[in-house]
Amino acid sequence: MLGIFVFACPGAPTGYLTYNMSKRESSRLSTLALRQRKAHLLQSLKLPPDLIHASFLERFLKCGRPNCHCRHGEKHGPFFYLSRCLAKGQMRTLLLKGEAQILQARRSVEAYQKALQALDQLSEINWELLRRGETLPGE
Ligand SMILES: [Zn+2]
Repeated sequence: MLGIFVFACPGAPTGYLTYNMSKRESSRLSTLALRQRKAHLLQSLKLPPDLIHASFLERFLKCGRPNCHCRHGEKHGPFFYLSRCLAKGQMRTLLLKGEAQILQARRSVEAYQKALQALDQLSEINWELLRRGETLPGE
């Protein structure tokens, strides 16, 4: 029987991606280019129905049996998990079972990150447009 495993909860948010378009880049683009990029983003923006906000983890682990080979040599695994930091120091984990569940979980985490990236780009464009004194409402 495997013991209880504790995963460290990093201080920074997990799954945090750098923007495709940096602040510097958006400020270099013309207002027209920003508006075109925004229109394209909005058209292509679809919320993936299977998204999950979590980190996908692969772990090799030691068990609790005193004389098991994992004490000294090869550990058990790999085990696949979803994990998500909640409140300070709290983490929720889900052990994934079977190929299908592992694949789905991996896809779901990627889907969330892609959606988040698109939202961040939209936000960056709106920020820049607002800074230039442009109007924002629906185009
Ligand atoms: Zn073991």
